[in-house]
Amino acid sequence: MSVNTQKAALRKHLLEKRDATSAELREISSEKIHQNLKKISAYTNSQNIACYFPIGSEINTNDIMLDILGQNKNLLLPRITNDNLQFFVVSNLEKLEKGNFEIMEPKDSCKKAEKIDCVLIPTVGVSKSGVRLGYGKGYYDRFLSLIDAVKISLTYSKQIVKSIPNEPHDVKIDWIVTEDENVKIS
Ligand code: ADP
Ligand code: MG
Repeated sequence: MSVNTQKAALRKHLLEKRDATSAELREISSEKIHQNLKKISAYTNSQNIACYFPIGSEINTNDIMLDILGQNKNLLLPRITNDNLQFFVVSNLEKLEKGNFEIMEPKDSCKKAEKIDCVLIPTVGVSKSGVRLGYGKGYYDRFLSLIDAVKISLTYSKQIVKSIPNEPHDVKIDWIVTEDENVKIS
Protein backbone atom coordinates (compact mmCIF):
# COMPACT_ATOMS: atom_id res chain seq x y z
CA MET A 1 0.00 0.00 0.00
CA SER A 2 1.39 3.43 -0.89
CA VAL A 3 1.96 6.00 1.85
CA ASN A 4 -0.81 8.14 0.38
CA THR A 5 -3.29 5.26 0.50
CA GLN A 6 -2.30 4.46 4.08
CA LYS A 7 -2.69 8.10 5.10
CA ALA A 8 -6.07 8.33 3.34
CA ALA A 9 -7.39 5.25 5.16
CA LEU A 10 -6.17 6.51 8.53
CA ARG A 11 -7.60 9.98 7.84
CA LYS A 12 -11.02 8.52 7.02
CA HIS A 13 -11.04 6.37 10.15
CA LEU A 14 -9.92 9.19 12.44
CA LEU A 15 -12.34 11.72 10.96
CA GLU A 16 -15.23 9.29 11.43
CA LYS A 17 -14.15 8.82 15.02
CA ARG A 18 -13.80 12.57 15.58
CA ASP A 19 -17.13 13.37 13.92
CA ALA A 20 -18.81 10.92 16.31
CA THR A 21 -17.85 13.12 19.28
CA SER A 22 -20.97 14.63 20.83
CA ALA A 23 -21.26 18.41 20.87
CA GLU A 24 -21.25 18.30 24.66
CA LEU A 25 -18.05 16.26 24.90
CA ARG A 26 -16.45 18.48 22.27
CA GLU A 27 -17.13 21.55 24.41
CA ILE A 28 -15.86 19.91 27.60
CA SER A 29 -12.69 18.68 25.85
CA SER A 30 -12.11 22.05 24.17
CA GLU A 31 -12.24 23.80 27.55
CA LYS A 32 -9.78 21.31 29.08
CA ILE A 33 -7.48 21.72 26.08
CA HIS A 34 -7.53 25.48 26.61
CA GLN A 35 -6.56 25.01 30.27
CA ASN A 36 -3.77 22.55 29.35
CA LEU A 37 -2.50 24.86 26.63
CA LYS A 38 -2.00 27.61 29.22
CA LYS A 39 0.44 25.34 31.11
CA ILE A 40 2.93 25.52 28.22
CA SER A 41 5.31 28.45 28.73
CA ALA A 42 6.31 28.50 25.05
CA TYR A 43 2.65 29.33 24.43
CA THR A 44 2.05 31.77 27.28
CA ASN A 45 5.27 33.62 26.41
CA SER A 46 4.19 34.07 22.78
CA GLN A 47 2.97 37.47 21.65
CA ASN A 48 2.02 36.54 18.07
CA ILE A 49 -0.19 33.47 18.00
CA ALA A 50 -1.56 31.81 14.88
CA CYS A 51 -4.86 30.05 15.50
CA TYR A 52 -7.69 28.74 13.31
CA PHE A 53 -11.42 29.19 13.10
CA PRO A 54 -12.91 25.76 13.90
CA ILE A 55 -14.97 23.73 11.44
CA GLY A 56 -16.87 20.46 11.85
CA SER A 57 -15.73 18.41 14.83
CA GLU A 58 -12.45 20.28 15.33
CA ILE A 59 -11.49 21.49 18.78
CA ASN A 60 -13.44 24.67 19.47
CA THR A 61 -10.92 27.50 19.64
CA ASN A 62 -13.35 30.35 20.37
CA ASP A 63 -12.34 30.81 24.00
CA ILE A 64 -8.66 30.53 23.08
CA MET A 65 -9.07 33.28 20.48
CA LEU A 66 -10.97 35.52 22.91
CA ASP A 67 -8.31 34.93 25.56
CA ILE A 68 -5.52 35.90 23.14
CA LEU A 69 -7.38 39.11 22.24
CA GLY A 70 -8.19 39.82 25.90
CA GLN A 71 -4.50 39.68 26.74
CA ASN A 72 -3.65 42.20 24.03
CA LYS A 73 -1.66 39.66 22.09
CA ASN A 74 -1.77 39.41 18.32
CA LEU A 75 -4.33 36.88 17.12
CA LEU A 76 -3.38 35.62 13.66
CA LEU A 77 -5.86 33.76 11.47
CA PRO A 78 -5.38 32.29 7.99
CA ARG A 79 -6.77 32.93 4.55
CA ILE A 80 -6.16 30.50 1.73
CA THR A 81 -4.65 32.15 -1.34
CA ASN A 82 -3.50 30.04 -4.29
CA ASP A 83 -3.52 26.94 -2.09
CA ASN A 84 -1.31 28.59 0.52
CA LEU A 85 -2.14 29.68 4.05
CA GLN A 86 -1.47 33.33 4.75
CA PHE A 87 -1.94 34.72 8.24
CA PHE A 88 -3.40 38.12 9.12
CA VAL A 89 -3.72 40.06 12.36
CA VAL A 90 -7.34 39.97 13.53
CA SER A 91 -8.04 42.65 16.14
CA ASN A 92 -11.54 41.35 16.93
CA LEU A 93 -13.72 38.50 15.71
CA GLU A 94 -15.91 40.90 13.73
CA LYS A 95 -13.00 41.27 11.32
CA LEU A 96 -13.91 37.88 9.84
CA GLU A 97 -16.01 36.92 6.82
CA LYS A 98 -16.96 33.61 5.19
CA GLY A 99 -14.25 32.39 2.82
CA ASN A 100 -13.19 29.10 1.22
CA PHE A 101 -14.85 25.93 2.53
CA GLU A 102 -17.31 28.12 4.52
CA ILE A 103 -14.45 28.91 6.93
CA MET A 104 -14.40 32.34 8.54
CA GLU A 105 -11.40 34.26 7.18
CA PRO A 106 -9.84 37.66 7.99
CA LYS A 107 -11.31 40.55 5.99
CA ASP A 108 -9.21 42.49 3.45
CA SER A 109 -8.72 45.30 5.96
CA CYS A 110 -6.58 43.04 8.21
CA LYS A 111 -2.80 43.48 8.14
CA LYS A 112 -0.52 40.63 7.11
CA ALA A 113 1.22 38.93 10.05
CA GLU A 114 4.85 39.97 10.26
CA LYS A 115 5.95 37.70 13.08
CA ILE A 116 4.59 34.36 14.26
CA ASP A 117 5.83 32.92 17.57
CA CYS A 118 3.47 30.02 17.95
CA VAL A 119 1.03 28.11 15.73
CA LEU A 120 -2.03 26.22 17.01
CA ILE A 121 -2.75 23.54 14.45
CA PRO A 122 -5.99 21.71 13.65
CA THR A 123 -5.29 18.01 13.65
CA VAL A 124 -6.95 14.91 12.26
CA GLY A 125 -4.42 12.53 13.79
CA VAL A 126 -1.00 12.68 15.38
CA SER A 127 1.63 10.28 16.72
CA LYS A 128 3.74 10.84 19.81
CA SER A 129 6.78 11.13 17.56
CA GLY A 130 5.22 14.35 16.22
CA VAL A 131 3.95 13.26 12.82
CA ARG A 132 0.66 15.00 12.08
CA LEU A 133 -2.14 14.07 9.73
CA GLY A 134 -4.22 16.91 8.28
CA TYR A 135 -7.03 16.89 5.75
CA GLY A 136 -4.71 15.74 2.98
CA LYS A 137 -3.93 18.99 1.21
CA GLY A 138 -0.64 19.71 2.95
CA TYR A 139 -1.61 23.31 3.80
CA TYR A 140 0.12 23.32 7.17
CA ASP A 141 3.15 21.35 5.91
CA ARG A 142 3.74 24.01 3.26
CA PHE A 143 3.21 26.89 5.66
CA LEU A 144 5.21 25.46 8.58
CA SER A 145 8.18 24.67 6.33
CA LEU A 146 8.59 28.44 5.80
CA ILE A 147 8.63 29.65 9.40
CA ASP A 148 10.34 29.00 12.71
CA ALA A 149 7.63 28.92 15.38
CA VAL A 150 6.45 26.66 18.20
CA LYS A 151 4.06 24.18 16.63
CA ILE A 152 1.20 22.92 18.79
CA SER A 153 -1.39 20.34 17.71
CA LEU A 154 -4.76 20.69 19.41
CA THR A 155 -6.45 17.32 19.46
CA TYR A 156 -8.70 14.90 21.33
CA SER A 157 -6.68 12.15 22.99
CA LYS A 158 -8.50 9.57 20.88
CA GLN A 159 -6.82 11.09 17.78
CA ILE A 160 -3.36 10.09 18.99
CA VAL A 161 -2.27 6.95 17.15
CA LYS A 162 0.79 4.70 17.50
CA SER A 163 2.27 5.67 14.17
CA ILE A 164 1.52 7.74 11.08
CA PRO A 165 3.36 7.24 7.80
CA ASN A 166 5.89 10.04 7.55
CA GLU A 167 6.89 11.69 4.27
CA PRO A 168 9.82 14.10 3.81
CA HIS A 169 7.43 17.08 3.41
CA ASP A 170 5.62 16.35 6.70
CA VAL A 171 6.64 18.99 9.27
CA LYS A 172 6.90 17.58 12.78
CA ILE A 173 5.07 19.34 15.56
CA ASP A 174 6.56 20.29 18.95
CA TRP A 175 3.63 19.75 21.33
CA ILE A 176 0.39 17.78 21.42
CA VAL A 177 -2.28 19.22 23.68
CA THR A 178 -5.27 17.01 24.49
CA GLU A 179 -8.01 17.11 27.13
CA ASP A 180 -5.92 14.64 29.18
CA GLU A 181 -2.30 15.63 28.75
CA ASN A 182 0.39 17.77 27.14
CA VAL A 183 2.96 15.79 25.19
CA LYS A 184 6.29 17.41 24.35
CA ILE A 185 7.89 15.88 21.29
CA SER A 186 11.58 15.37 21.95
P1 ADP B 1 -1.75 16.47 5.24
O1 ADP B 1 -0.47 16.92 5.90
O2 ADP B 1 -2.72 17.55 4.98
O3 ADP B 1 -2.34 15.29 5.94
P2 ADP B 1 -0.07 15.28 3.18
O4 ADP B 1 1.06 15.27 4.16
O5 ADP B 1 -0.49 13.97 2.60
O6 ADP B 1 -1.39 15.95 3.77
O7 ADP B 1 0.32 16.30 2.02
C1 ADP B 1 -0.53 16.47 0.91
C2 ADP B 1 0.24 16.98 -0.29
O8 ADP B 1 0.68 18.31 -0.02
C3 ADP B 1 1.52 16.22 -0.59
O9 ADP B 1 1.30 15.11 -1.40
C4 ADP B 1 2.37 17.23 -1.30
O10 ADP B 1 2.10 17.19 -2.68
C5 ADP B 1 1.86 18.55 -0.78
N1 ADP B 1 2.90 19.20 0.07
C6 ADP B 1 3.05 19.11 1.39
N2 ADP B 1 4.09 19.84 1.83
C7 ADP B 1 4.63 20.42 0.74
C8 ADP B 1 5.73 21.30 0.53
N3 ADP B 1 6.51 21.75 1.54
N4 ADP B 1 5.99 21.69 -0.75
C9 ADP B 1 5.20 21.27 -1.75
N5 ADP B 1 4.17 20.44 -1.61
C10 ADP B 1 3.86 20.01 -0.39
MG1 MG C 1 1.39 16.09 6.00
